[in-house]
Amino acid sequence: MKKKNILEIFIGSNNPGKIKEIKRLLPKNIKVILPKYFKIKSPTENGKTFIKNSILKAKYFSKKTGKICIADDSGLEIDKLNKLPGIYSARWGGKKKDFNLAIYKVFNELKKIDKNWNKKKIRARFVCALTVYWPNGKTVSRLGKVEGTITTSKKGHRGFGYDPIFIPLGKKLTFGQMASFQKYKIDHRMNAYKKIKKFL
Ligand code: IMP
Repeated sequence: MKKKNILEIFIGSNNPGKIKEIKRLLPKNIKVILPKYFKIKSPTENGKTFIKNSILKAKYFSKKTGKICIADDSGLEIDKLNKLPGIYSARWGGKKKDFNLAIYKVFNELKKIDKNWNKKKIRARFVCALTVYWPNGKTVSRLGKVEGTITTSKKGHRGFGYDPIFIPLGKKLTFGQMASFQKYKIDHRMNAYKKIKKFL
């Protein structure tokens, strides 16, 4: 049987940085619907993995709207911090989701563990779980990653979140310094999307 292509999709996120990036991944012929049109608040993310949280969000927004929904859960894993902030990446920014605070916390936690951390290579990766949830309960989730290192100070003003302190492997610039189209080509969201796009 021929696959029925998706005509419209609800993006299950209230984070403007993410909405922009997910929108950019989707084919232009799919109509995008955003939570702000429905005034729906985001659900509490109480899953213990990126995959579980992305399913939780996609299912929640799909149930609220009756629409096919795509949602991501993403974050930064730093090896020296036992993969933190990980699923807590947004929460490290406090109630106001202040990314400067989150970055300060990264440097501070690294300093607590090793006062010479800034002389070493700090391996890290961005991880993204993408889930598409259909109103009939069909669920598809995929994980994407991009490996890299953490810088010792903020570099660049582009992107969002931890972009100014992450250099992908093989590059010299942080995601915050790169032109956005360069980031999108190689990032964790694109890597997850490549695995999920055949289901759209
Ligand atoms: P959540 O998926 O809504 O829990 O939020 C993920 C958090 O991880 C974001 O608020 C950012 O702090 C961080 N994050 C995820 N993807 C990126 C990215 O592409 N660049 C920078 N930070 C990111």
